[in-house]
Amino acid sequence: MLDRKSKLPFTIGAKSDRGRKRRRNEDYFGVFEPENEELTESRGVLAVLADGMGGHFSGGEASRMAVEVMGETYFKTAENAVNALKAAFVAANNEVFARVGDGKNGVAGTTLTAVAIFPGEFIIAHAGDSRVYIARPGRMDQLTKDHSLVGEMMHKGLLGREEARNHPRRNIITRAVGLRENVEPDIEGPLPFRPGDRILICSDGLSSMLSDGEIAAILLSKDPAAACKALVDMANEKGGDDNTTVIVAMRD
Ligand code: MN
Repeated sequence: MLDRKSKLPFTIGAKSDRGRKRRRNEDYFGVFEPENEELTESRGVLAVLADGMGGHFSGGEASRMAVEVMGETYFKTAENAVNALKAAFVAANNEVFARVGDGKNGVAGTTLTAVAIFPGEFIIAHAGDSRVYIARPGRMDQLTKDHSLVGEMMHKGLLGREEARNHPRRNIITRAVGLRENVEPDIEGPLPFRPGDRILICSDGLSSMLSDGEIAAILLSKDPAAACKALVDMANEKGGDDNTTVIVAMRD
């Protein structure tokens, strides 16, 4: 659980929960804010979420490693925010792949979704089926594509949104960190971040249990930490089939 007022004009909450069916929580998250003011200005605050999967080297280790490497590398590379996001993504993939790429530790990987948040805008780097949404009164939009078999079918118009949410093969991921020698993240943005806007980053444990309407209603009616708790509680009340992790950043 995290509830933090940033030095920048936003408030961030986060929560990760094992759910009701899984023995372990293989999701992981981190919110990184540098001490150095110059660095905060050029790089913002970095919120990272990962949903690990499989192998003897468990998905939990893959997701934690990816989040930590991302958080360390992003603030160290001497380039602009977009290039720093890409470089941190490559570093995270290299570390996880080096640990599991020979197959001896089983096949493991992790989704990885990172959002660099600035006072007026944000930038997303993303691979996998975790999601980023933006919510403002009256509307909520998903900003990331799901890199999953079902997600690709949906983008091609072969499946509706609700059908996709309940599809038996929705767990098949088509892009993730640690599965191959290289991974290319999708970059979205910079996108505007206006007063009252909420950015939500979530694992599929949330988006597979709640409809977009249910998510929006909670997100827009509470402050970030309370929204995170309410979202996780509702996912669990509806069955808690998977680990659920949420990060919410609200612009003051
Ligand atoms: Mn999951």
